[in-house]
Amino acid sequence: MNFLNPNVIEFVVNLLSVLLLALGIKGLSKVKTAKDANRLAAIAMFLAVVGLLSKYILNADGGVSLDSWTWIIVGTTIGGLFGAITAKKVPMTSMPETVALFNGCGGMSSLLVALGEAIFNSNFDKIYSFNVFIGIISISITIFVGSITFSGSIVAMAKLQGWLSTPNWTQSRLRHLFNISLAIISLVALIDLVQNWNVNSIWLLVIGSLLLGIGVTLPIGGADMPVVISLLNSYSGIAAASAGFVVGSQLLIVAGAMVGAAGLILTQVMCKGMNRSLISVLFGGTLASQSKTSSGGGEYSNITSCSVEECALTLEAANKVIIVPGYGLAVAQAQHTLREVTKILEQNEIEVTYAIHPVAGRMPGHMNVLLAEADVPYEQLKEMEVINPDFPATDVVLVLGANDVVNPQAKNDRNSPLYGMPVLDVQQARTVFVIKRGMNAGYSGIKNDLFDLSNTSMVFGDAKKVLSELISELKELGVGTK
Ligand code: NAP
Repeated sequence: MNFLNPNVIEFVVNLLSVLLLALGIKGLSKVKTAKDANRLAAIAMFLAVVGLLSKYILNADGGVSLDSWTWIIVGTTIGGLFGAITAKKVPMTSMPETVALFNGCGGMSSLLVALGEAIFNSNFDKIYSFNVFIGIISISITIFVGSITFSGSIVAMAKLQGWLSTPNWTQSRLRHLFNISLAIISLVALIDLVQNWNVNSIWLLVIGSLLLGIGVTLPIGGADMPVVISLLNSYSGIAAASAGFVVGSQLLIVAGAMVGAAGLILTQVMCKGMNRSLISVLFGGTLASQSKTSSGGGEYSNITSCSVEECALTLEAANKVIIVPGYGLAVAQAQHTLREVTKILEQNEIEVTYAIHPVAGRMPGHMNVLLAEADVPYEQLKEMEVINPDFPATDVVLVLGANDVVNPQAKNDRNSPLYGMPVLDVQQARTVFVIKRGMNAGYSGIKNDLFDLSNTSMVFGDAKKVLSELISELKELGVGTK
């Protein structure tokens, strides 16, 4: 075998990058290995580009001009720089928007590849064979899924950024009529394209599916957004795999299929976490009220607030403490200060565990990543189903910047937009301290009945500031010196 044969080199490099990508995806499932896994996946992508370039450069009579591969280098450099700068600059709390943007970029790339192939390279009217049929089908599907992914992801990003709100008409049945019409238009264009290779249908398909992406994503909001983001992630993988068939790249097919499958599994996990079916997310409209700052669903009538000193005194007497981290902890970047507090409690032989809700924060696994940054031992992190039975035997719960994930309305109030979402049963503990800056609602925009309960006390302030003061108070009380 000639190992310098461009095809052999491409095969070996592709195999290596698929292996690294698979290992990368596997490693992402554990916090400990996630960082290295991400690097592995990035190396896999880099190798994929190198493999492609080596084939072009070594294959002198392959009909590929110098221009083609310089464009690949230019494109990779611009894309790589954009990705690296965004990843460095974006704060953790804006990850969902970033992921939505990246999904959109993936969808757009697949769409452009299919359009480029359809307009400039295809010669389908001359010969009609099985390969041509596969080519036409792949182009049509890539345009369809790529367009939906692109427009849907941009709408999702704009909604998460707060640039776009959910228009009222999208909550009426009118939206189903709008979306069904668009789906029919896109389907007719797709069939015409496959049957007759009518190039005009390409544009109808592009416009129909772009509008469909907007129409499906626009009505969804509030607590359902994470599910949509992971579904769009899966779509971007499907579009990439389909684009792989268009350009005959096995690597793209495999990588796209892996992303598509991983996104689908994540969507299922998120749906389970929210106790929602995918159908109700896609067709049920927004789960949240529009209000972001008001306490929707009524006024508070029985709020008890207390000082940090009182909180410290109660903690000093506790045997078992559960920490519930939420989005506000990430905003305050208080994870390291929290770790200091829990270390002090543990020195006093107080048992400390952390309750992790699957949709706490703003992205899947947000709290796991946040707490891992502060070196919280992984064994102390307990999933919702595991920790819920422990609350009745718990002395103190510290709710840190969490709101929706501890709202009892989700269990008790059939009219609540959160009804049906599993939540942490913190109200069953003896004492609950909620640390937040004011009475602002959480992501879903609704009132939290927990705050009115007699065993709940609010400790108002920025999470980092309150936790720093708590450290001083605990030290003054001599906690942690045992
Ligand atoms: P949340 O319901 O959004 O509530 C966060 C709370 O943190 C707010 O009520 C806010 O109240 C407080 N806060 C903000 N900054 C703070 C600071 N510096 N110090 C202290 N408190 C601060 O958060 P959650 O309980 O974690 O629930 C997550 C929500 O986001 C769910 O509805 C979920 O569906 C949704 N979501 C999740 C994902 C995901 O993948 N995890 C993605 C998108 C959306 P104050 O302003 O009064 O302080």
